[in-house]
Amino acid sequence: MSDAGRGDPTPLGVRRAPVAALPALHQIVLPTPWQVGPVQVYVVEGDPLTLVDTGVRTPESRAVLESAFDSLGLGLEDVQRIVLTHYHGDHLGQAEQLRRAASLEVWAHEDEAEMCELFSAERDERIEDTEALFREYGVPDDLVARQTAMRRRFVAEDPLCDATRVDRRLRSGDHIPFKDFELEVIHAPGHTAGHLLLYEEASGTLLTGDHIMGNAVPFTDNYYLEDPPDPADRLGRRPRFRGLPRYLESLRRLRGGAVRTILPAHGGVLERPARAIDDALLFYEVRVQRIDRALRRLARAGGGATAWEIWQALFPKADAVTEMRTRMLMVIGALDLLEDEGRVEVRRRPDGGLGHRPL
Ligand SMILES: [Zn+2]
Repeated sequence: MSDAGRGDPTPLGVRRAPVAALPALHQIVLPTPWQVGPVQVYVVEGDPLTLVDTGVRTPESRAVLESAFDSLGLGLEDVQRIVLTHYHGDHLGQAEQLRRAASLEVWAHEDEAEMCELFSAERDERIEDTEALFREYGVPDDLVARQTAMRRRFVAEDPLCDATRVDRRLRSGDHIPFKDFELEVIHAPGHTAGHLLLYEEASGTLLTGDHIMGNAVPFTDNYYLEDPPDPADRLGRRPRFRGLPRYLESLRRLRGGAVRTILPAHGGVLERPARAIDDALLFYEVRVQRIDRALRRLARAGGGATAWEIWQALFPKADAVTEMRTRMLMVIGALDLLEDEGRVEVRRRPDGGLGHRPL
């Protein structure tokens, strides 16, 4: 699930021990029918036999997973534990199906558990939330309605993913033990609220899911939380999970660390982690700058602008229905960041929506 694709097709199947110091850990590349391309899951041999992420629930993905296990001398029915980096379909997808054939536990971050357990219901709720969010940020009602209808159609199709129970809710600092090593859980919110990374200290290996990828930079989530409005917010806004500021924070925390190899969910194996982190930071820095400049141009003409007016100025040729969603989330994310940095002022407009003015 990505925002900007680049890179080469990856061969499907097993890549044995991509980190020499961890001979029990293998990468398995599974097909997805999505634009993001194949997804990379990881298996750790031993007791308990563990799978990190599972691929989408399609016969093609299942067949590649089965033959990969076969070539490693393993059986899917022997999987004892699944650890999920996050709830998206190419990670959670086959977990429930695998559970039916094996005696296994599913572990995920505590902030991700509800999405894993109530996948479809939660997605429906998110669609309504996004509708309200886009209205608050100035998108005209008819476009919001058309975008919502399109999203509902998309979700009504097979999501290639089943919900599953989370047997253990993980937190930052938890350790997942294996025979010869352990993985430390690091909470890295941004792409999703409960995204986690797994770190093996001795070899400096970091499993990053979609947080850092070899062939793309992830989009960041942005949705209303169920909490009541914060009384300290003078605009009476509903609290939100504001993914972009959280993502950049999570990324910056990894800078200058001891990571030597990144094992991502998309795009190979990354041997230059500092570069991958800086590339993702730069990707967003450039976009936030563009959005800031567009706001300043619009403000010179009329005092302020809505997120939707910025969208229109930046993407005059984009389709307002099919290409609205991820780019609007990007604009709203950038405005969140600019507000946090004290670079914009947010006001309630007479129509109830939010307007932004550069400071
Ligand atoms: Zn994802």
